[in-house]
Amino acid sequence: MSSSGKNPEFSVVAPIFNEIGCLEAFYQQVRQVMESLKTPWELILVDDGSTDGSSEMIQNLAKKDPLIQAVIFARNFGHQIAVTAGLDYSRGKAVIVIDADLQDPPEVIVDLIEKWEEGCEVVYAVRRKREGESWFKLLTASIFYRTIYRITDVKIPLDTGDFRLLDRKVVDVMGKMRERHRFLRGMASWVGFRQTGVEYDRKERFAGKTKYPFSKMLKLALNAITSFSYFPLQVATYLGFISAAVSILAIPVVISLRLSHQAALLGQATTLITVLFLGGVQLITLGILGEYIGRIYDEAKGRPLYVVSQAPVRKQ
Ligand code: UDP
Ligand code: MG
Repeated sequence: MSSSGKNPEFSVVAPIFNEIGCLEAFYQQVRQVMESLKTPWELILVDDGSTDGSSEMIQNLAKKDPLIQAVIFARNFGHQIAVTAGLDYSRGKAVIVIDADLQDPPEVIVDLIEKWEEGCEVVYAVRRKREGESWFKLLTASIFYRTIYRITDVKIPLDTGDFRLLDRKVVDVMGKMRERHRFLRGMASWVGFRQTGVEYDRKERFAGKTKYPFSKMLKLALNAITSFSYFPLQVATYLGFISAAVSILAIPVVISLRLSHQAALLGQATTLITVLFLGGVQLITLGILGEYIGRIYDEAKGRPLYVVSQAPVRKQ
């Protein structure tokens, strides 16, 4: 199907950052699954500033196969932004977002599409099992999903990643949400419509190492929390009330100790600890404020979300 022709039924979007070892296998497996559906489709490969030759490989694949649309970023903008670009360039009536490292098995796409055909607009893939992940990743991921679930206003389903199918209606709404610090899973939940999950076993990486070191995971977690919750800001208020209450209660205690001539609260050490403790709390709450203010500042600058050095000649 040529890019100038009618829109495809399905778009498969994959973000790619240094995945040279996975690309060919990923392409073959996705193609096999999608061809079995006998419906027009396209594969959008978004290169997120790779430095290992993945960009050239994507361009070569796109030259050979007209079903592939290559979007090449000018630098690394991060996974969530790469997926956003893929959504922006997609044309399908349903868009499937999938990782390029084959941790999300392409066969599951068939199950996602089945639910979409039954009338669901968002079909997310729920991880039943995760193979070959370190205990640290499993622990942090588990804490992450549960914290987000507790403190955010939008109920983001537990143990789901970005592997999901989005109906065109949802993609169009998400396309209008241009926030910089993105947490796509939350945004997809926020949109509404009929949403459902399909279980799957998450595989081991096909090749290479994870591109999500702890620092990036932490950033994603902070984006998730700040985008969908004011809870951290409210914590400052609670702490303020608690410390005010403690100090008010302490006044009669200190007075009565003094009157009864028990010099129990002697000391610099107590004062020092109290001052340090409150100083720490104040700095932490300032930091929390800073997280929100920094994000407001980023939004105020209104820069484009990403810069492409090469993209399919259509939209934008
Ligand atoms: N990725 C990306 N930009 C980044 C980091 C990751 O496009 O800055 C891509 C990566 O190539 C892969 C997907 O996002 O296709 C998921 O990354 P990864 O598999 O490293 O994350 P994990 O599965 O370990 O959480
Ligand atoms: Mg992965």
